[in-house]
Amino acid sequence: MTASCLVCSEPEVEVFLDLGSTALANKFPSAEDLSSPEPRFPLRVGFCHACGHVQLVERVPPAAMFTDYLYVSSASDTLRAHFDDLAATLTARHGLVDGGLVIDIGCNDASLLCCFRDRGARTLGVDPAENLAEFSSDTGIERYRGFFGADTAGEIADRRGRAALITATNTFPHIPDLSGFVSGLDEVLAPGGAFVVEAHYLVDLLDQLAFDTVYHEHVSYWALGPMTRLFENHGMEVVRAERLPIHHGQLRATVMRRGEGEVERSVDEVLAAEELRRGDPRPAGRVPPPRRQVHSAGAGSPDRLTTGCATDPVLLVRRRSPGESLLPGGRMPAVRQSSRMLYSFDRVRMTSRSPARAGDASVISSSGFAWSCSNSSPVPNTNVVPASSVAKMRSR
Ligand SMILES: [Zn+2]
Repeated sequence: MTASCLVCSEPEVEVFLDLGSTALANKFPSAEDLSSPEPRFPLRVGFCHACGHVQLVERVPPAAMFTDYLYVSSASDTLRAHFDDLAATLTARHGLVDGGLVIDIGCNDASLLCCFRDRGARTLGVDPAENLAEFSSDTGIERYRGFFGADTAGEIADRRGRAALITATNTFPHIPDLSGFVSGLDEVLAPGGAFVVEAHYLVDLLDQLAFDTVYHEHVSYWALGPMTRLFENHGMEVVRAERLPIHHGQLRATVMRRGEGEVERSVDEVLAAEELRRGDPRPAGRVPPPRRQVHSAGAGSPDRLTTGCATDPVLLVRRRSPGESLLPGGRMPAVRQSSRMLYSFDRVRMTSRSPARAGDASVISSSGFAWSCSNSSPVPNTNVVPASSVAKMRSR
């Protein structure tokens, strides 16, 4: 049984991409876990014909994924630089230099809030992850440990008052109770305040065949059209829309209560571009082939590696987030940064999250089939080389 649409509650959400059942990304099993089977959950993506929202049709309870969270924002140089730029931009736009309050939902290790604090803003983080609190403890940034929603918004507002700015970077796709989330925003935002969300942009995901972005944490894959509808249903509106090159391509939307801000032309421009693509948003004929044994490697988050290929061994290198040992799904060892390892199979492929790092990760697959887990080489361009090249690679 599948759930109804996250945005409009339409009961029929059509599945167009079925990645089977996989382990949870970012859930690295410990040695003690090896004696028991690893939980697996269906990973199927659907399209709502009523509102156009793309979403998972089965959803894992958030508490199972986010109360003990592996990914640490500060581990990514790209993300740290992006946060600094984001804080500078939003501080200037929203006049936060006079000590306005910024609340970051899904604040992780407070990397973004540090950038706001350094520019004179007051800050409060919201995040359910108990393990991440220690990463931000030395920053002095206060955090509310829990989920953001209608039931917690009042308590959060009581901590520091109402916010001039609320941010959610890569958190919004995690939210299954969107109605409760937006109701909470309305309760916590100060009059004239803004909510700025950054999320993977559906159009870019489809253009790049970035199906490795599909994993259980991401229950939504946002386009501006459904996002606009969601906020309109709650008396709010998107006043600015920006497309960002980070990750696979992201959408940044600025949201205010209806009538509190001027709707910029960028909103209509992005909506018009989406309208041109309207119809069937699915990458017809380009959906990945049925799963076979897949062995791959990468230099990024394990989520990208375990998605769709979690039933088979995966080798990961150049990890910098702490705490991992065995990868979810395949339970292969995670190799630390600067380590290098080759497995003896009959195919080799190289992948990395950025072209500049291509070659940092090496893996040999026994299956003759592999797909990309990187930003830089989507499926049609996978770099699979025969075993005859292995000796050369080993000697490098
Ligand atoms: Zn819908």
